[in-house]
Amino acid sequence: MLNINEIRKQFPVLDQQVYGKPLVYLDNAATTQKPLCVIERERDYYLHENCNIHRGVHYLSQKATEAYEHARQTVADFIHAKEAKEIIFTRGTTESLNLLATSFEHLLPPLRGGQGGVNTDSQPIVLVTAMEHHSNLVPWQQMVQRHQGKLLVVPMDDHGVLDLEQYEKLLKEGPKVVSIAHISNVLGTINPVKEMVKMAHQYDIPVVIDGAQSIAHYSIDVQDLDCDFFVFSGHKMYAPMGIGGLYGKAEWLEKLPPYQFGGEMVDTVSFEKTTFNVLPYKFEAGTPNVGAALGLETAIQFMQSLDRKEVEEHENQLLQSAIEQLSEIDGIRFIGEAEQRSGLVSFIIKGVHPYDLGTLIDKMGVAVRTGHHCAEPVMTRFGIPGTVRASFALYNTLEEVEIFVKAVKKAAMMLR
Ligand code: PMP
Repeated sequence: MLNINEIRKQFPVLDQQVYGKPLVYLDNAATTQKPLCVIERERDYYLHENCNIHRGVHYLSQKATEAYEHARQTVADFIHAKEAKEIIFTRGTTESLNLLATSFEHLLPPLRGGQGGVNTDSQPIVLVTAMEHHSNLVPWQQMVQRHQGKLLVVPMDDHGVLDLEQYEKLLKEGPKVVSIAHISNVLGTINPVKEMVKMAHQYDIPVVIDGAQSIAHYSIDVQDLDCDFFVFSGHKMYAPMGIGGLYGKAEWLEKLPPYQFGGEMVDTVSFEKTTFNVLPYKFEAGTPNVGAALGLETAIQFMQSLDRKEVEEHENQLLQSAIEQLSEIDGIRFIGEAEQRSGLVSFIIKGVHPYDLGTLIDKMGVAVRTGHHCAEPVMTRFGIPGTVRASFALYNTLEEVEIFVKAVKKAAMMLR
């Protein structure tokens, strides 16, 4: 069995008082806290190994390069990629998605008359879903608009479940790429991504999975999912900020042009012409965040040191307990009631503004997120200004859930 008390000792930040109350941290979908081993790994790198990588012949440079490439292999193994070169280190999900949108844009037929010209191919370009985070919407939308193309959107029902019949219909319209959240950061819905990949592949359409909210909660096997790309952020999986990844099938990464240009991503350069480096370096221009990559490796090792099935069960227990207790509140409306859901609960209470509720329970020591959660179209879909969202991590306890619900009840009474 998971020993949560022991685990919590690895997270000193949790052991503090805010406004004189013990901190209850339930904003893990925004970012998780970092265990000591991760903090120490990054510190250790700067104490003993810091050096620019891939460039020097000297001892430290080689040591740092080896450590960085070892971290890449660890990430590849963690999500079961075939080869380490299929892992590109990025700043996180947002950068990975911008990389993909930009690179895919370069594969599109040029506009007639150059930039600002006319699109002779009026095909839809990208298919996303109605529950995407702005990170998996705006980069694609901007790219589509630059090409005067069409952005297709898979609708969802009132429970926050995608309409797969509509999805199939939209696939028939022939988008060049599909990009979907594995788990919604607002609704908690776990989308049937494996099935959706299979459906898209019947039309030869590549699929990007936004794994920002899934990688900390579930074992990811990109070969089993058969997705063409999988993107994630380190800071949502116990790793430092400023590091994340993009997995891509080698054949796709070979085909896509580079996203940024500069040092490291080149093979030969003259004033007339530049040729590019091989994978994965082609997509890693400039000096990377080596210390954070090593922290990410340690975060993965930390997660692997625990029984992931037990973690899943524990987190599910937290969620079920929260839903059960919150249901007793008069006028509560859950936003996102899919059968397949995970990690978080979003809600509003009649007559109470989410922001006021969040502010009041903060004073009781409880940290939750309020607002649109970077998914404004989801708010529009449900006709609400925002939600209160409590999101769980492996170090949260059932006692914390109780404190949270009590705080919500008290705040709701005060505000109504
Ligand atoms: N997609 C989803 C589903 C997310 O939850 C988030 C973060 N809230 C992102 C993308 C963006 O992640 P980041 O800010 O780490 O780039």
